[in-house]
Amino acid sequence: MVGGGQLARMTHEAGIPLGIRFKLLSDTPQDSAAQVVSDVVIGDYRDLDTLRAFAQGCDVVTFDHEHVPAEHLRALEAEGVVIRPGVEALLHAQDKGVMRERLREAGVPCPRHRIVADPEDVARFAEEEGDGYPVVLKTVRGGYDGKGVWVVRGVAEAAEPFRAGVPVLAEEMVDFARELAANVVRSPHGQAVAYPVVESIQVNGVCDTVIAPAPGLSEELSGQAQEMALKIAAELGVVGHLAVELFETRDGRLLVNELAMRPHNSGHWTQDGAVTSQFANHVRAVLDLPLGDPRPRAPWTVMTNVLGGDFPDMYAAYLHCMARDPALKIHMYGKDVKPGRKVGHVNTYGDDLAEARERGRHAADYLRGTITE
Ligand code: ADP
Repeated sequence: MVGGGQLARMTHEAGIPLGIRFKLLSDTPQDSAAQVVSDVVIGDYRDLDTLRAFAQGCDVVTFDHEHVPAEHLRALEAEGVVIRPGVEALLHAQDKGVMRERLREAGVPCPRHRIVADPEDVARFAEEEGDGYPVVLKTVRGGYDGKGVWVVRGVAEAAEPFRAGVPVLAEEMVDFARELAANVVRSPHGQAVAYPVVESIQVNGVCDTVIAPAPGLSEELSGQAQEMALKIAAELGVVGHLAVELFETRDGRLLVNELAMRPHNSGHWTQDGAVTSQFANHVRAVLDLPLGDPRPRAPWTVMTNVLGGDFPDMYAAYLHCMARDPALKIHMYGKDVKPGRKVGHVNTYGDDLAEARERGRHAADYLRGTITE
């Protein structure tokens, strides 16, 4: 797996019971996954020779993030390296402009959008194609956790996104009721499984809570979301886990926001809440093994992200959290605690949604240090 973040750490964990030999390309030995994987190469994923040497002896190469340059992946594929998901699929997770165009062609509903050249062009977009301001601007590459996304209310505010020198996509500001995610896994054979559609709650552009299944979502919309995600996976030839981030509009429509072709934060609940986790199914899919059952194990599962706070030592909070809630599932990433950084998550599950949310919130806040009792 290329990339040493928490997704690689948890994918490695899922491969252990299967006896899968897992090799990692990581930026530094301190990265989340590099701390726990025994076969680690430290190197730069932007360097073709590093990637080539790393891929030697691997049956299949997969990813913890979408930032490996496409031209390098094409070169490796031409040399016979098996890359899953393949570069032609991965392009759509690397570049929001490419993704929007492809989904439009495939007839998948998306926010109205257009690549814009400068702030004046944003003004034209607002007038001609959007509903006026505000307009959402996004750099087509390199964004995450809301970085690379701006909500602008006029020409004066629209200059900033163009400074990076990366193409900028303008989108209508969707007045959504909530955000959902439809997670599916597809194998090279074309076998696919769909997890229950989840609600994802963001705070300051960062995922805070995921509820599985999305409360009150009609069977019709949940079926539509799953079908949309399966269709995207098949049309784009995705192999592995695909997260389709969606907006549910106030008038009951679904619009696709983003695609991620790797395990995703909206699927972390599956570690404790589904028969087969997204990580286990990603491993199975990239190895072209039969996929595992995606069904939930409890009526409700809640994933609450643990963000860093002012206290560097989260271990000190384990005593309280474990004593208060013996059923709590803690997943920490081994990262240094910095304010606002995602350093772990907790999963809670049960018959009562409100109770599962309260337990998750309490544990995350206690670990962070924003509450002390
Ligand atoms: P990132 O790559 O940072 O995850 P996203 O495209 O997912 O960027 O946008 C981050 C957040 O910004 C979304 O989760 C959503 O809350 C908000 N957002 C993005 N696009 C729109 C839009 N067109 N209309 C309204 N809100 C949006």
